[in-house]
Amino acid sequence: MKIRVGQGYDVHQWVAGRPCRLGGILIPSDHGPLGHSDADIVCHVLCDALLGAANMRNIGFHFSDKDPVWKGVASTVLLQKVMEMIREAGWELGNADVTVILDQPKLNEHIPAMKVNLALVMGIGEDQISIKATTSEGMGFVGRGEGISAMAVALIQQLK
Ligand code: MG
Repeated sequence: MKIRVGQGYDVHQWVAGRPCRLGGILIPSDHGPLGHSDADIVCHVLCDALLGAANMRNIGFHFSDKDPVWKGVASTVLLQKVMEMIREAGWELGNADVTVILDQPKLNEHIPAMKVNLALVMGIGEDQISIKATTSEGMGFVGRGEGISAMAVALIQQLK
């Protein structure tokens, strides 16, 4: 059995008044991430971890922020497409683990809903996706409330 691992990392700037959609779930917040798509950073790092594991470049290569087709797109659509791409190449997800680094809003109470939604979007079990949130202890751009960052790892396997 072939096994591969990939990582994803992403940063988005906070903007007052923008919707805050993470893992496809709308989180109550007075600010949200700026981006060409809906800027759902959880979906973005999952896409990059999966593509990295399959050695298939990155999210910007497949869904360019210069392409009007992807303007305002729900990033769950991009994640669904990435899952299709890796499955077409013969891969299946083993598990993925996401860490979101932000000070506000607090995510803990929304994590179960994010997991249910992502499992549905990705066609996997809830036990295959972990989401964790942490702060930066008030330091750096995250601590100053300027932005959000996230990282993910994904393990994929080829059963032949
Ligand atoms: Mg992004």
